[in-house]
Amino acid sequence: MMQLSATELVLAATGLKPEGSDVCDERHTGMSCAVCGVSLRAGDPVDDLVLPPSFTNHNALAHPGNPWRCGACTAVMTRSVFQMGASSVLICRDGIFPIMKKEHRAWALQTPPDTPFALCVQNAKQQHVVWRTPVTLSKEQILIRVGEQVVRLRRSLLLKAADEARYLAQLKSEKGRPVKDAIESPFVADWKFQSSDGGRLKWFVYKLLEQEQITTDNISSLLQLNAGEAWALGAFLHERPIAPESITPSIL
Ligand SMILES: [Zn+2]
Ligand SMILES: [Zn+2]
Repeated sequence: MMQLSATELVLAATGLKPEGSDVCDERHTGMSCAVCGVSLRAGDPVDDLVLPPSFTNHNALAHPGNPWRCGACTAVMTRSVFQMGASSVLICRDGIFPIMKKEHRAWALQTPPDTPFALCVQNAKQQHVVWRTPVTLSKEQILIRVGEQVVRLRRSLLLKAADEARYLAQLKSEKGRPVKDAIESPFVADWKFQSSDGGRLKWFVYKLLEQEQITTDNISSLLQLNAGEAWALGAFLHERPIAPESITPSIL
């Protein structure tokens, strides 16, 4: 049975094999991987947890005191591709898919795959995100690691908020304006989640309220969104989602 960690999902998605210089035996009985927390099972590859001096993500380790690392975490952490080309991705049973582009993020969030899956976005160079990503177990509560943060998306609330945003965009835009790929988000956009302004409502929304073109009832779902959901709303407002090609071959 596959255990539920992002690195185990990577193996299931790619067919990569667990790696280790040692084999689990009675020394590891009842122990967990220091990195992802899965149980170490007899016969599985295992390694001592040796972290380079440059390692700074100790608070992301599942069990910082444990001396072992599982074969899935070793396979992922020793491949630089997971800090480069395969770092802003959807990981699911069907493969690993890039979500760097708007239309691909729209696909991933509007039509998420069957659970379990993992979603992460790298927003700084050389940042470790893949092995630090929590596994999503419900399409209604999607977890995404975005750089140093984990955001939680309530999908049905986001779908309602997207309807409200479409209504606002309609009120705002002049007649005959060409339809773009995406409806304008009422939130200040910042998909790398780095600006302190990200998640603030744009001034036009306050204007519509002031002018009594809308009331807060018209935006009740938008007002419930947390900063991560405000960030993700852009993907729900994209009108032309595109399924990306799997990048699994570039990893193997
Ligand atoms: Zn592990
Ligand atoms: Zn590193």
